Amino acid sequence: MIDLSNLGIHEAHDLLQNGEVTCRELVTFYLDRIKKLDGEIKSILTLCEESSLEIADKVDAKIASGQEIGLLEGMPYTAKDMFLTKGTRTTAASKILGNFIPPYTATAISHLNKSGAILLAKVNQDEFAHGGSTENSAFQKTTNPLNKDFVPGGSSGGSAAAVAADFGIFSLGTDTGGSIRQPAAYCGVTGLKPSYGLVSRYGVIAMASSFDCVGPIARSARDTEIVLHAIAGVDANDSTTVSYQQLTGKRSLELKNIRIGLDSNFVNHTSILEAKKTFETSGHKISSIELPDGDLSLAAYYVLVPSEISSNLERYDGIRYGQVSDKAKDLMDTYSMTRDEFMGMEVKRRILTGTYALSAGYYNAYYKKAMQVRTVVIDKFNEIFKNCDVVITPTTVGPAFRAGDKADPIEMYKTDILTVSVNLAGLPAVSIPAGVDAGTGLPLSLQIIGKLGDDNKVIALAKEFQSLTNWHKLDSKEVKS
Ligand code: GLN
Repeated sequence: MIDLSNLGIHEAHDLLQNGEVTCRELVTFYLDRIKKLDGEIKSILTLCEESSLEIADKVDAKIASGQEIGLLEGMPYTAKDMFLTKGTRTTAASKILGNFIPPYTATAISHLNKSGAILLAKVNQDEFAHGGSTENSAFQKTTNPLNKDFVPGGSSGGSAAAVAADFGIFSLGTDTGGSIRQPAAYCGVTGLKPSYGLVSRYGVIAMASSFDCVGPIARSARDTEIVLHAIAGVDANDSTTVSYQQLTGKRSLELKNIRIGLDSNFVNHTSILEAKKTFETSGHKISSIELPDGDLSLAAYYVLVPSEISSNLERYDGIRYGQVSDKAKDLMDTYSMTRDEFMGMEVKRRILTGTYALSAGYYNAYYKKAMQVRTVVIDKFNEIFKNCDVVITPTTVGPAFRAGDKADPIEMYKTDILTVSVNLAGLPAVSIPAGVDAGTGLPLSLQIIGKLGDDNKVIALAKEFQSLTNWHKLDSKEVKS
C-alpha cells in the first residue's frame, strides 16, 4: 500500500500518471481523512464528495486509455468559502449567505476546473474574511491542526488548516491584510500573496477591493508557484487584472547575489536568524533597511479597509442575496433586521467604522489622511527597492495564539502588524515556515516581500530556502487525531 500522506503536486501527478494510484483512491484518501479528523479541526464547511469522485473517475478513464494528464489534473484541493462556486453553497462564513447557491463560478476556480484540479471542499474562514483567527466564522471555530488549543490564524484559517491536516494537496485563499500568509505561518505551511491584479477577483466575495488578492496555500513554495501560474492572468471580468508580462517587463530572474533588505527591529527573530544563515551561504547579501512604520500602516489599513467594506457590504440587504429576516414588516425593517440578525459583531463593527470614516465632516480627517499614509508606504517601499531585490521579515510577531486570547478586537488587529503594509502597496509576498517556537512547539515563519511584479523572484527565493532547509516538511502524522 502506497503512503499517500503529505503529497506535493509533482509526486501525486507521477503516482497518477504511472498508474500506481488511481485518482479515485487519492480523492478517497482525503475524504476519509476529512471524515476521521475534521470533527476536531472543523475546517470544512461544504464537502463536495459526489462531484470529486465523478471527476476522479473521468481522470482515471483518461489515464487508463493511455493519455497524458496535465500537472494539475486530478489534484484534490480545497477553497476558502469566499470563492463563488456555481451550484455549490458559498457563504463567506456568514449567516446572511447561509443558504446562498451562486449562479456562476469565480475565475480562479474556473481556471483550476479547466486544468482538471478537483474541488474537494469549501473551507471555513472568518466571516467575510474579517479577522485573524477564524474565530469570527458564524458557523464553527477551526482549530490549529498542530495543537487544537491554538488558532489556525485567519482569515483563510480553514485553508491553512486543511493543508496542514492533509485534507487535499493545496488550498485557495484570499489576502486583504495578511489572510493567506498569516494562517500559513501559524499552521506551518507555505502561503503566497501575489501582486495585486495578478489573479482575477471576479467571483470572489469582495472585502476591500483595492486590497483583495487571491493566492494559494500549499506544502511548498514549488506547489504555490504551479497553482499561481494556473490561476493568474488578465480577465475581462476584472478590470484591475494585469498580465504577468505586463507587470514584470524584462526583469531577470537570476538568483545570484540577491540583495536582501532587513529591518534592524527583526534581527533577533528565530526565522530571521535562520534566513540569514541560509541566504548568506547562498551568497546573497543582507543589508539594513527601515520598513514603513508598522503602527501607521496598521492605522491606515484599519481606516481604508472598513471604508471599502462598508461600501462592498451594502449589497447584503436581505433582498438580493441569501437570508431575509421574517420579522421585517417594511423595507427599512428588511434592511436593518436582516443585517442585525444575520451579520456577526465584527462585520457590523467594520461597516459602522467604515461608514463613519467616509461620512461628510470626517472624510478628510480619516479616509483622506489614511490614503495619504498609503502613498507614504508605497513611496517608502519604492525607495527600499532601489537598493534591494527583496525584503525579509517574520510573517507574524510570534507563533499561533491560544483560542480566545484575542477577544479584544484591537488585540486581534495588532496581529496584522507585519502583513498589512504589503497590501497597502499591492506587493507580492510569500510566507514560509522557518523555525519552531521553543515555548509552544508551533511553527514560526519568514515573510519574503518583493517589488510589484516580482512574484517569481519571491517564489524562487522561497524555493531556494526550502531546498536548503526542512522546516516546510510538516508531517501530517503529527496532526493530533
Ligand atoms: N486580519 C486582517 C483583517 O482582519 C486581514 C484579513 C484579510 O486579509 N482578509 O482585516
